[in-house]
Amino acid sequence: MDLAILAKELYTPLDRIEHPVLLIQEGVIESIVTLAEREVPKARRVLDLGDSTLVPGFIDMHIHGGAGRDIMDTAPDALPAVERLLYAHGVTTYFPTTITAPMDRTLQSLEHLGQAIERAAESQELRARPVGIHLEGPFISHARPGVHPQADLQLPSLPLFEKMWEASRGTVKVITIAPELPGARELVSEATRRGVCVSMGHSDADLAQAQAGVDAGVRHATHTFNAMRPLDHRNPGIIGETLTDKRISAEIIADGIHVDPVVVRLFLRAKGAEGAVLVTDATAATGMPNGRYMLGSLEVEVKDGKCLRDGRLAGSVLTMDKAVRNIVKFANWDLKDAVRLATLNPARTTGLPGNTGQLIAGAPADIVALNPAGEVVKTIVRGQAA
Ligand SMILES: [Zn+2]
Repeated sequence: MDLAILAKELYTPLDRIEHPVLLIQEGVIESIVTLAEREVPKARRVLDLGDSTLVPGFIDMHIHGGAGRDIMDTAPDALPAVERLLYAHGVTTYFPTTITAPMDRTLQSLEHLGQAIERAAESQELRARPVGIHLEGPFISHARPGVHPQADLQLPSLPLFEKMWEASRGTVKVITIAPELPGARELVSEATRRGVCVSMGHSDADLAQAQAGVDAGVRHATHTFNAMRPLDHRNPGIIGETLTDKRISAEIIADGIHVDPVVVRLFLRAKGAEGAVLVTDATAATGMPNGRYMLGSLEVEVKDGKCLRDGRLAGSVLTMDKAVRNIVKFANWDLKDAVRLATLNPARTTGLPGNTGQLIAGAPADIVALNPAGEVVKTIVRGQAA
């Protein structure tokens, strides 16, 4: 039945609406008015969310797993487990993110994810929906691999990209590459031509190489500061380019571990409410106790909020609702602006259609209700709520 949702306030996230009445029809937002302007139509089921704030469903464009499962795991119960955990933390849309692995393993995963993405478009289930793949690796730098296995890294190659593209049924929407590698420019242009958001990361690029990447079509930066040539005031490199070029948006892992809160604040001043994008880079260990978990084909160890392999950070256990709260805490930002970094910005960066990432008429009814502490009270996917 069509739904009317009442709450204390709503962030579109560009605007704030007090005492909203949000009307939903067939999974789409029909209209948003304030209670003062209009009564709730009688024929509607009413969901009164009291002193909650309604915001768009969160979008995570960089996530590897959760609830003990890795997104490259092709077992039928793996993705649904991850998606239920995401849903519980307010994520309605996500981009399953691969890590570098042997090519046959990668192709199997891409095929599986491509099918899951096609099926999700029709799904009525209460869990986050995969909408496109983020290919993290294999076209990344041997100098900045993080935990990606060196033996499986590849130089940018159009035939290899074509193979992965076909396996995924054209569902790759984001690719992280190191722009300084030979062949990167051709791959950046071809991926861009196919509507893929090309992101620079796992890169040792100097300033000129990073700028050349952006000139060729790079539009985003992957987990800024992590797995990048460090910022030096006389050799600003890829981070100098990322922080200062308005043509690109940039990810930050705001768990307080991957990047110090002071540097998160600096990053937010540089990229602003328009250019910063929150990602979790979450692994299978998210939502789980300390222990050993898989990340792609690697085993990682999680202890007290840190996810490590051989002493190196290997993804996070961050959830998106926590990331949003951390932005408020680390930088003293408004919740409204923090929400934008997890909704409208990733939607724009990845080119999601249909006003996804906003609460406006005509947009999908993907909605999160937050309590005054910024915690998730309820998540609504395409007008469906638990
Ligand atoms: Zn990652």
